[in-house]
Amino acid sequence: MRLDRLNALPAQLEQTSPTEILQLLPNPTLISVAGERDPPLFICTLLHGNETTSFEVLRALARRYRDRRPSRSLLIFAGNVEATASAARLLPGQPDFNRIWAGGDSGFVTLANEVQRIAQALRPFASIDIHNNTGRNPHYGCINVLRPADLQLAAWFAPLGVYYRNPPTTQSMAFAEFCPAITIECGQNGDSTGIESALRLIDRTMHADALPTTAPRDSELRLYETVGRILVDPQRSFSFGEAETELILRTDLDEMNFRDLPAGTPLGSSTCTELPLAVLDEQNRVLTSQFFAAQNGAITLLQAATPAMLTRDHAVIRQDCLGYLMRPLPQVW
Ligand SMILES: [Zn+2]
Repeated sequence: MRLDRLNALPAQLEQTSPTEILQLLPNPTLISVAGERDPPLFICTLLHGNETTSFEVLRALARRYRDRRPSRSLLIFAGNVEATASAARLLPGQPDFNRIWAGGDSGFVTLANEVQRIAQALRPFASIDIHNNTGRNPHYGCINVLRPADLQLAAWFAPLGVYYRNPPTTQSMAFAEFCPAITIECGQNGDSTGIESALRLIDRTMHADALPTTAPRDSELRLYETVGRILVDPQRSFSFGEAETELILRTDLDEMNFRDLPAGTPLGSSTCTELPLAVLDEQNRVLTSQFFAAQNGAITLLQAATPAMLTRDHAVIRQDCLGYLMRPLPQVW
């Protein structure tokens, strides 16, 4: 897998749609934009080809810096351009481009290593990776190290944050080893406030002389920790509110994202003798009986929890998961 290098964002990006991207960027590309000062801000885009906010950010940056220099140099990675051209998260035969950053022996890992090697040598000011959710979620940032600078990046983006250490193969996990790093979740595709929030974070970070050395206040950032991911039994049929399936989830499930739910919250119903939902922690230990109960066919939450990334997208639920359960992280930093 080849990595291309450019010294400017292609000016024609402005008139290009995501599906036409291969005309401008036929391969994964690392774009250096010289600014008024260094070190550069690293911006990661298009790791998931069906998420359009990072493409809109690329387009906005191309327009903005067509004939002037940014206040800080930028190093921009455009990742899975082939999947972007097909509006797919990834193509058959490809790995998830946000799971290739912790070593391995595929050509995709070699590509990620090369990007990381070049970035690390420049000692980036910070790293921002831009994503969308498939379900309805408020905007939030994910961080991997409880450092003041990383926490501040999260607070600058949105008042909600998620801390995780697993999976270890994501871009922000790799970059957090050598610079403050954040993954931003900018709502669903087409959410214009998500694009604005991403650009605002880039601007604020780019213009900062240094990142803060004190953590944000409670009121500026509510931080959660992932407890487990929720899987639907692959053998069972499921739906949102349709009576004929074995698992019937409530139709407003993805409106519960980032809501602190009390014990007893109903989630749906099932005709199965065994619960067709599972909760697995980061080590794939089964936590289901701690979180879900089925009584007379009704499925309820057994203890208080806060869901995130709950989606109603059937393909995502089958390929990945239904969503995550989190708990608030006490401020220990
Ligand atoms: Zn993504």
